[in-house]
Amino acid sequence: MATVPEMFGCLVFNDKVMQERLPRETYKLMKKSFLDGKRMSLEVATVVANAMKDWAIENGATHYTHWFQPMTGITAEKHDSFISPTDNGNVIMEFSGKELVRGEPDASSFPSGGLRATFEARGYTAWDPTSYAFIKEGTLCIPTAFCSYGGEALDQKTPLLRSMEALNKQALRVLKLFGNEDVTGVKTTVGPEQEYFLISREMYEARKDLIYTGRTLFGCKPPKGQEMDDHYFGTLKPAVADYMKDLDETLWKLGVLAKTKHNEVAPAQHELAPIFTTSNIAVDHNQLTMEMMKKVARRHGMVCLLHEKPFEGVNGSGKHNNWSMITNTGTNLLEAGQTPYENAQFLLFLCAVIKAVDEYQDMLRISVASAGNDHRLGANEAPPAVMSIFIGDELMEILEAIEADRPYDSKETLLMKIGVHVLPRFPKDNTDRNRTSPFAFTGNRFEFRMAGSSQSIATPNTVLNTAVAEELRIFADELEGAQDFTSSLHELIKRTIAQHKRILFNGNGYDESWIAEAERRGLSNLKSTPEALSHLLDDKNIALFTTHNVFSLPEMKSRYEINLENYCKTLNIEALTMIDMARHDIFPAASAYASQLAANAASKEAFVSCSAEKKLLERISALTDSFYGKLETLEAALAEADKYTNSKDAAFYYKDTVLSAMDALRSDGDALEQLTAADFWPYPSYGDMLFSIK
Ligand code: ADP
Ligand code: MG
Repeated sequence: MATVPEMFGCLVFNDKVMQERLPRETYKLMKKSFLDGKRMSLEVATVVANAMKDWAIENGATHYTHWFQPMTGITAEKHDSFISPTDNGNVIMEFSGKELVRGEPDASSFPSGGLRATFEARGYTAWDPTSYAFIKEGTLCIPTAFCSYGGEALDQKTPLLRSMEALNKQALRVLKLFGNEDVTGVKTTVGPEQEYFLISREMYEARKDLIYTGRTLFGCKPPKGQEMDDHYFGTLKPAVADYMKDLDETLWKLGVLAKTKHNEVAPAQHELAPIFTTSNIAVDHNQLTMEMMKKVARRHGMVCLLHEKPFEGVNGSGKHNNWSMITNTGTNLLEAGQTPYENAQFLLFLCAVIKAVDEYQDMLRISVASAGNDHRLGANEAPPAVMSIFIGDELMEILEAIEADRPYDSKETLLMKIGVHVLPRFPKDNTDRNRTSPFAFTGNRFEFRMAGSSQSIATPNTVLNTAVAEELRIFADELEGAQDFTSSLHELIKRTIAQHKRILFNGNGYDESWIAEAERRGLSNLKSTPEALSHLLDDKNIALFTTHNVFSLPEMKSRYEINLENYCKTLNIEALTMIDMARHDIFPAASAYASQLAANAASKEAFVSCSAEKKLLERISALTDSFYGKLETLEAALAEADKYTNSKDAAFYYKDTVLSAMDALRSDGDALEQLTAADFWPYPSYGDMLFSIK
């Protein structure tokens, strides 16, 4: 058995392998082009490709693929084998430099939101050399960005890389002002905590709703849910422990830093957190993690559900996106330092994040908007749809003191000026954490908790990076022109706190009074995906992304269309699935049970009163009538949906009319499930599913 260090990254063409396998000169040239962010020459690429191929073949690979992340939210791959025919009818294994750096998949079947109409149908993929190639199921996977021939991003990775570049540029300007001459690069770091459910494969396969939509569309509450809080951090069931072990090992081989695993709040719910890494790698690794979670589950006779709300009435799943910025010299820019000067720098970066989150609340909300996540945000288990920042009491007092020009600590006699006092170290332990905040400062990073469990974290991070880059740009502009740096800095921080403190909230985000208070503060509350997306193309958002070259206007419009379309398509599939289940399974089951009751009553009536059968029969008959009426309403609502040619109107129609017809149908369906004998009910119950893994 290989030890963990031996196992870790054994399927990754990482720096160690490159050093071993590449000629010194090639390695140096390749490193240099990575560091300079320049494309490597074809000669260098050819040598790298060859070494990569030999290594891949030795490790069992026969194919390669450009692994990319189109706007479907999942990864895409087209496998090509290394074979190349020879004159004598044999094959040799080949992989050229050209094939490594660029691929040309047919883009026409990926969502492009109109970009395809204006530009060419074909797209190309280009290697992202900052993310290592790896072997997955016999295929060498090369992480790539995916663009149209006109250069428009058709994927999630390109804008993310651009946003990291934007932040790098602006953060360096600010750091220079603080005299950090040795700093030449700033990267954003991300550690995503991934939640998921595990249920038995047998149960899964008996549920059309899970198969087609990833969530249950019917299902009444089990006698026991999460009310006892006995699952959270509880001992792992043996089958779950085996699964997690297999998952860890699978991920370690792929170089994913899987670190923490535990049971979550809901029965059958679990979490995996990796150690944080550079944003684009974290995004790639999170995609791999989700893929492996599903594949490994299959090997264990289970199914992993990544949907945001697979079960009504118990918690849904999210993805906590821990985020920070780090310099190439190893300084975490969101960590308070030892010296007053470091602390002033920390406070400025903190203010940049506060201002960014306040000014682009809507964009952060939009970045996590999906039909699935709508069931979660604001549902008293996940953060509300209102954006706010938790910074903790201690930091809050400091900011208030700065704003009011008074000493933070009563013992402190020095005049309260930024740069002349030492900040306390902020506690980093869990106990002090506010779990209801959508955006929480956790000592040396922010945790953005609104992301949905199934979504790519590329977009939320793109938004966060760009918004912070924008504030740093404004700060740098102001401070670069300042006469007296220290006093200008002090004024800037003071002013930022005064203008943006409305976004700071340390209280309970689930509390209804907070929603009212947030409204008074003028914070946005975009409750649903259509409402959120309506703001994507607001002038200020267009200005943000185009200024920093993260999205062009056509790219933003395409994303707007794609997201609205996805929303409508998701609801359409869900509605169709409900209709299918209602017509083909639930109605017949309830009706058959009713007949059985009637037959029982008829055969017993000569001897006993049968009042129980009759009472139940009446209730079931009334419910089936009502259920059938609601089924027809949903069918009619769906038939109308085609009328809307504008995607925004269609999305609002789905939300207001189709979704409410679905909710109404479900409520009768669930009531019927409660009254119908288990033998007659066509699906495994919530109890069966949630407690299916032993
Ligand atoms: P909790 O559940 O208490 O929030 P976890 O340990 O489950 O804590 O997750 C914390 C996550 O934050 C981990 O993925 C960790 O690597 C990540 N993290 C820690 N420091 C940073 C940082 N500087 N930048 C980004 N992520 C970080
Ligand atoms: Mg967390």
